[in-house]
Amino acid sequence: DVRVRFAPSPTGALHIGGLRTALYNYLFARREGGAFVLRVEDTDQKRYVPGAEEYILQVLEWAGIRPDEGPGIGGDFGPYRQSERKDIYARYTQHLLDAGKAYYAFDTEDELDRRREAEKSAGNHNFRYDAATRGDLRNSLTLGKEQTEELLAAQTPYVVRLRVEPGQMVHISDIVRGDVAFQSEEVDDKVLMKADGLPTYHLANVVDDHLMQITHVIRGEEWLPSTALHVLLYRAFGWEKSMPAFAHLPLLLKPNGKGKLSKRDGQQMGFPVFPLDWKADGETLSGFREAGFLPAAVVNFLAFLGWNPGTEQEIFSLRELVEAFDLDRINKSGAQYDFEKARWYNQQYLIATPDDHLAPRIEEVFAAHGHPISEALAITIAGLLKERVHTLEEFYEHGLYFVDRVGIIDEKMARKKWKPELRPRFEQLRTALGELDAWTAGAIKERTVSFMESNGLGFGQVLPILRLAVSGSTSGPDAFAILEAVGQEETLARLGEGYN
Ligand code: GLU
Repeated sequence: DVRVRFAPSPTGALHIGGLRTALYNYLFARREGGAFVLRVEDTDQKRYVPGAEEYILQVLEWAGIRPDEGPGIGGDFGPYRQSERKDIYARYTQHLLDAGKAYYAFDTEDELDRRREAEKSAGNHNFRYDAATRGDLRNSLTLGKEQTEELLAAQTPYVVRLRVEPGQMVHISDIVRGDVAFQSEEVDDKVLMKADGLPTYHLANVVDDHLMQITHVIRGEEWLPSTALHVLLYRAFGWEKSMPAFAHLPLLLKPNGKGKLSKRDGQQMGFPVFPLDWKADGETLSGFREAGFLPAAVVNFLAFLGWNPGTEQEIFSLRELVEAFDLDRINKSGAQYDFEKARWYNQQYLIATPDDHLAPRIEEVFAAHGHPISEALAITIAGLLKERVHTLEEFYEHGLYFVDRVGIIDEKMARKKWKPELRPRFEQLRTALGELDAWTAGAIKERTVSFMESNGLGFGQVLPILRLAVSGSTSGPDAFAILEAVGQEETLARLGEGYN
């Protein structure tokens, strides 16, 4: 049975690339009727950031990507937080030590730094701890059994390193990238167990993928170089036969296609590159949720950042994505992050959402800006504006006039359309509208039209001014619908001010 995992490290906010990885794992698991596991890789205490795990869980929940197993969910392969699996890693490290596949290394940071410096002055800029250099260093391979035992008994700090023998070929047949080959000389004797008794990412990741019976590792391309080491680790454990298949997802590129998308791009260009807002350590990063995006639209957008269905269809619900998703259709080349496309997706989803479903979200946005509105008004605003906005936030930005006097926004149009000699006529229209008993768009329109006819005025002479007075601009949804929503009393008040 297919088993996949999303294995984030709680070292900060999960960017959208991370959410894309989670999504692809989820889609593949659902598609294959397999299990989607959430594993928290929190063994790097130096990089651990409080709140990051909660953030990850909130993101997955917001996006509707539900893990089948994970911290707080349970499952047969737990615990799912690596910090709770220390004994397991210690045990497996011991296996490798016993089998001579790994060794103790007692070099201090200082010693290694000095060694690096010495190599540098000799013209070698990338010193590696490997089969060529380890003979001169302080480790159990060079010190011998007795001295090693003594150092261990004296509680000398040590790390455990993988013994990488030169001359081995490593072949990875990556589902996305095809055949990738490495030579074991390219891999140094990586640390598996750190001096603090905690495993490195590599050891914990491989041990857990094995024990959790992961069948497919789907992750970002930045992990491809590490995969060579991972294969050597599977080999050292004797697990190479049951090794998972690998699929490395293409990088996310900046909107201009030049280089990797970074969190600074978002801050500089004013668009979110995180699913939700993140506030920590004096750092605020803006998220799609707070920018007014619907989760289904973000999911749809992300699905297409590195994958395509091979058809013209662009709008896919999560369920449709599950049906259509296929690892074979993941692109090799980097995926350009196109924020306008994200906005387009969101607009499609806003339009497709019934007004009464959008209303609560619109109420939230107005309330957050200190302008609480009724559900009825929110439904009206949804209907009038959803084809004109791209985000929930824009319902407020474009629709503030429904609840507040915004004055003249479009000064240029106002100067062009308003003629002082129109003032008396306008007063007459105001009086005529004030006499209306039923304040509906239909009735308002009827009265306005008969006013225009009896005064020999055309739409172009009346409507722009009406709009400007009530909503501050000459564009927008149906003018009479706006007037109805604004209400009779308020409309009359607005018509009374403004022009001179
Ligand atoms: N903990 C790694 C990360 O933060 C997991 C990489 C992998 O999926 O193997 O991305």
